[in-house]
Amino acid sequence: MKLSRYVHFSNNPGTGKVYLFSARTCGLAELDPETEKHLTTGQLEKLPLEYQEELQRGRVLVPSGQDERGALLMSMIDAMASKRHLGLTIVPTTACNFDCDYCFEAKDQLTFMSERVQDLVIDFIRFKGPEVLSVTWYGGEPLLGMNQLRRLSRATMELAGENHVKYSSNIVTNGYLLDGDVAEELKGYGVHHAQITLDGSKTTHNKRRPLKGGGPTFSRILSNIAAASKHLDIAIRVNVDKRNQHEAIEVVNTLKSLGVYPDKVSCYISPVSPSDAGVRSPCHTNTEFADFAMTMLQDACIQGTDCYCLDQFTCDHVCYGEGCNYPEYAPPPCGTDFGPE
Ligand code: SF4
Repeated sequence: MKLSRYVHFSNNPGTGKVYLFSARTCGLAELDPETEKHLTTGQLEKLPLEYQEELQRGRVLVPSGQDERGALLMSMIDAMASKRHLGLTIVPTTACNFDCDYCFEAKDQLTFMSERVQDLVIDFIRFKGPEVLSVTWYGGEPLLGMNQLRRLSRATMELAGENHVKYSSNIVTNGYLLDGDVAEELKGYGVHHAQITLDGSKTTHNKRRPLKGGGPTFSRILSNIAAASKHLDIAIRVNVDKRNQHEAIEVVNTLKSLGVYPDKVSCYISPVSPSDAGVRSPCHTNTEFADFAMTMLQDACIQGTDCYCLDQFTCDHVCYGEGCNYPEYAPPPCGTDFGPE
């Protein structure tokens, strides 16, 4: 066995604790110093057998001859070549009602998907003939293209019904228009999950994510989250750069006081990328963000927060919906402990 190339160690000087993070599985573990020493010096045989087995399950230890990069690549190719599952990201409109200061999308080409293009999308799905179809509604702000979303959803669901295709969808929205009625209607169109962005405190969020033409958005989004979470699963994304990183955990506290976290609403951080065109924010480098993310995970564990996951570090779980072909790829639960303690 060998240590996975995707494993990172981190010390928390405040608590003296050592943490292990696997960027392959998104697993986090608190280690005792002896276990850390054996892992970092390659003395794996000195670890108790049950730890070795546990670490193998968490893919912290992998077979000596395994080419991890190659294995990941193969699972991606496998997923791409599969006819069984089709995942589509559909943009009903490129228009948006917000003017976020780090938005990378071009604001001068506002379009709404024509009926001709919608029909071509349906033809494409028919041609691909999947068993499982998942759609992500994206924008701009997709709820501004509600007529397009309705028409396409009806046609897709009809096609899915005729061909016994398992259909589900989710939406990436800024949340401003997602009140309870809209959420209920979306649910009727097979939407089960919404991703909404909150960028910290009310003041910070309103500054970074105002309405187009000016105006606050925080309070309305918050009341929409409370109403919409009765119908949809919701994940709150916190877009983080150096201006608001200290407020990321505040979002969790806000959701807790709203009474929706963690049962109905989850939360994760994501870096604002310096490669985004038109970005006007002081971004983290990858290393800075990784350090910040580790601190967040440690704080979350110390506070007993269930999981503050990161989309930046994806596992190699190849998801085929509920009929997953690779159940053995499921990542271990965040915060799994390894070591004598
Ligand atoms: S919500 Fe903000 S980040 Fe998203 S498309 Fe609109 S302006 Fe851009």
